[in-house]
Amino acid sequence: MAEVQNKKKNYSLECKDVQAMIPRFLSNSLHDRETLRFLRHVRNCKHCYETLETDFMVDRTVQFLNEDLPFDTSFDLTPLLARELEEKIYFLKYKKRIRIIRMVILIFTLALIVLFLLDLTGLFHVTAFLAS
Ligand SMILES: [Zn+2]
Repeated sequence: MAEVQNKKKNYSLECKDVQAMIPRFLSNSLHDRETLRFLRHVRNCKHCYETLETDFMVDRTVQFLNEDLPFDTSFDLTPLLARELEEKIYFLKYKKRIRIIRMVILIFTLALIVLFLLDLTGLFHVTAFLAS
């Protein structure tokens, strides 16, 4: 039973785990995989989203006060959080695509090297095969 619960925990985060991750999310110190799981949960859990929103507002207000920005700056942070979450998801998807492209290039290069070595050793004549 405990094992099943542990396995389940690996795939989906519980609210208490997500809320414990909020400070690390706000300081951008979660790993990509953690960030994705965090975002997936937060987008589907109203309770955690509201907690994140509150912490986000406190965090950004402190930043705002520390940076001594002009007084008339718009201070509506609600759309800002939604935008930041969307940007983060977009960025993570972009990084994932880049990783896949790199992997495809690597596999293609390795395949070419193997074919080249086979041709060199005489086991499989790529040049003869291509000519036919
Ligand atoms: Zn939750």
